[in-house]
Amino acid sequence: MEKSLRLIRNPIPWPDGHRCAVAITFDMDADSILHLAHHETANNKLMTMSMLRYDPDVAVPRLVDIYREFGIKQTFFLPAWCIERYPATAETILKGGHEIAHHGYLHEHPNELTPDDELYWFDRSIAAIVKATGQPPRGYRAPSYRFSAHSLDYLVERGLAYDASLFGDDIPYLLDNGRGQVVELPSHYAMDDWAHFMVARDLGYMMPIKAPSHAMDVFREEFDAAWDYGGLWVSVWHPMVMGRLARAAALVGLIEYMQNKGGVWFAKMEDIATHVRSVVANGSWNPRIDRLPYYPGPIPELPRKPN
Ligand SMILES: [Zn+2]
Repeated sequence: MEKSLRLIRNPIPWPDGHRCAVAITFDMDADSILHLAHHETANNKLMTMSMLRYDPDVAVPRLVDIYREFGIKQTFFLPAWCIERYPATAETILKGGHEIAHHGYLHEHPNELTPDDELYWFDRSIAAIVKATGQPPRGYRAPSYRFSAHSLDYLVERGLAYDASLFGDDIPYLLDNGRGQVVELPSHYAMDDWAHFMVARDLGYMMPIKAPSHAMDVFREEFDAAWDYGGLWVSVWHPMVMGRLARAAALVGLIEYMQNKGGVWFAKMEDIATHVRSVVANGSWNPRIDRLPYYPGPIPELPRKPN
């Protein structure tokens, strides 16, 4: 039923009259995060390693099968090290017609690096993606959302079309650094499977386990609101979390629910970014623009402690 109250003040026209856009994005981190956290001892943490390698070995092929069944193309974010380490899995994703986007090299955290180190890993990852896919990445998601005060500069300089790291709206918006712009395709923590399920003692996460159906209540209600009000629904999921058997079965149910509801644009993020650019360029939509970084440094109102 049409909602008369407009909760989104500046709704974007979705293509072909669709009511909302859905991007089921998965971040295939595999064991990159374990090597990053425990470089010296990762090889002796076999259970956690097996849990993380479920990503390339079991879950990604399963997800690509699910997408094929429903006839949809989606976006996978891969640390470039994972592309090099698991080339057959990257190939499975590409053969399915899906997008591989930039997710750092070894899942290093940009806002904990120097600007030079951030750029080194950023460029090294682009080179690996070019080598594997034949083209540079169109989009980026900062590992663990750790987008730095310099990340936008690198996205603009290297010509990426979109970012998917930030939480600033319910629909796309633009990030501007004064020299260029990229499209932001935002999400938020409720849409991240980590917050619903993740237990990994070696990585310091002990979330309460819940039934897949309970998490699905959250994801479905987020979808219903996007459908009612014209939003963008972006999951930030991990193959070894949401791709486990019972959760994958629930995902199948969710996609069926979305398709039965109708008017849903399932799209790769690169296609959503292209659409955003085109409606901005032809004047049919005026986006909100965030100028980054928000502050040049610590705010001056709070005195800094003497050294
Ligand atoms: Zn990740």
